[in-house]
Amino acid sequence: MGAIVSKYIFITGGVVSSLGKGLTAASIGQLLRSRGLNIRMQKLDPYINVDPGTMNPFQHGEVFVTDDGAETDLDLGHYERFTMRKMSQESNYTTGRIYSDVIERERRGEFLGGTVQVVPHITNAIKAAFTSLEEPGVDVIMVELGGTVGDIEGLPYIEAFRQFSLERCRDDVMFIHLTLIPFLRASGEIKTKPTQHSVQKLREYGIQPDMLVCRTEVEVGREQCKKIALFCNVHTDEVIIEKDVDNSIYEVPLMLEKEGVANKICQFFKFNTAEPDLTEWKAMVETVINPEKTVEVAVVGKYTSLTDSYKSVYEALAHGGIANKADVKFRKVEAEDIENNGAAELLHGVSGVLIPGGFGRRGTEGKMAAIKWARENNIPFLGLCYGLQCAVIEYARNVCGEPEAISAEWFDEEGEGDLAKAFVALMDSQQKVTAKGGTMRLGAYACDLLEGSKARECYGRESVNERHRHRYEVNPEKVEILKKNGLCISGVNPDRNLVEIIELPDHPFFIATQAHPEFKSRPIKAHPLFKAFITASIKKSEE
Ligand code: GLN
Repeated sequence: MGAIVSKYIFITGGVVSSLGKGLTAASIGQLLRSRGLNIRMQKLDPYINVDPGTMNPFQHGEVFVTDDGAETDLDLGHYERFTMRKMSQESNYTTGRIYSDVIERERRGEFLGGTVQVVPHITNAIKAAFTSLEEPGVDVIMVELGGTVGDIEGLPYIEAFRQFSLERCRDDVMFIHLTLIPFLRASGEIKTKPTQHSVQKLREYGIQPDMLVCRTEVEVGREQCKKIALFCNVHTDEVIIEKDVDNSIYEVPLMLEKEGVANKICQFFKFNTAEPDLTEWKAMVETVINPEKTVEVAVVGKYTSLTDSYKSVYEALAHGGIANKADVKFRKVEAEDIENNGAAELLHGVSGVLIPGGFGRRGTEGKMAAIKWARENNIPFLGLCYGLQCAVIEYARNVCGEPEAISAEWFDEEGEGDLAKAFVALMDSQQKVTAKGGTMRLGAYACDLLEGSKARECYGRESVNERHRHRYEVNPEKVEILKKNGLCISGVNPDRNLVEIIELPDHPFFIATQAHPEFKSRPIKAHPLFKAFITASIKKSEE
């Protein structure tokens, strides 16, 4: 379309957290894109951490990494998977990032003579964060606010939205509020009161929503919508019901399309857009709902009890399944349980083993036991980041005759072992890890693929770019020992000659990568490594 002035959609949430605001935002973004609109998306997180990089996965779920090396909220993963558009540093701001920028400027004397305050200095910085996405040709900027309306820490953001809607033409700014309509099983009825209260709160802050998206588990009739509309000061057709989907999160855009969400947004902004083309997406959802086969793979990690911790990994595995017309069942195995019960017992019957990224020594022995089991039993194996590092150490210990092989990470953190035996090490041995935030190899790095290798066959290319998030590398001094003993280094970073991908030539599928390919997988375009891993796992299951 190429609007002259970008339009803004601010998405807030009410009643409870974990309503699937990110998924809804991503789905709306996709529907707008499928109408030919040029969109940008941003997530604002009200917590004080500068980025989620240092947060425990149990606290925050996965840290999603962008090409330009931002460590961000996992909602950006949804944005990328649904809109097929790459996110960047500008796509995620936190209160910590906003404040540290304002405080830095204060120290430089930029506000000399003035008192620096939440209003207007912090609110101005928030406005600068979302208007930074504005550029010629961008039709819609979608801004999702984390948390729930009424949270103390979210207030400056809501205030910034309010100010902005006053400064801009009101017709250029749309407020979408996502709420929950609970269903009370005992009385068999739905309740609209929490939604009414949440909108009251928003209106107290000076924001009148233009659209309500109500999450429910049951059908909600027109009469109920009328009631919500009356109490929330919106028209009945501005009340959208987003009922739980049955099979897959990828059904959400199709459901919202049926509810007419995107058409209403286009009407609001007076966009004259093309009919959306959702053919490919619908075909993909059809495959998810009616797979031809099922395959079970194990994910052996440290945070398996919380699905969000490895969000993109599970999604990428599901994409690999879609590409193979298969439903992928996950056996989530705690690495430490393998230490207690043995790999053979806990992994028995799975057709593939995946080890995701990780930090710290805990659970590592279990991961290596799982890798050994997959290696020795010809079970397809895919290792990601720490998964590669564990595979290298397992190989060094059990194949190369280096029983004392360690990662320098264990030495640095636990004083374990001898650095001379580090098969995985910091590249600059003088370097000491003194800070934890933002000190990793982050973002996209190139990888050249060895001719004739399985990795090259999977990717079908000579060179690729994948996203990274790690401090340690395969020790270049140990590469010869690994190679001599049969490990194939099939991917290398051309600039620093670092090991990027390893594989075993005599194994049906044994590949590990230093990168995080899961971040680049899409439901309608599975990542080649995940696709091939699932193909191999299906083959194994049919043996
Ligand atoms: N802990 C390892 C490192 O820092 C691996 C990190 C990861 O898996 N993301 O190098």
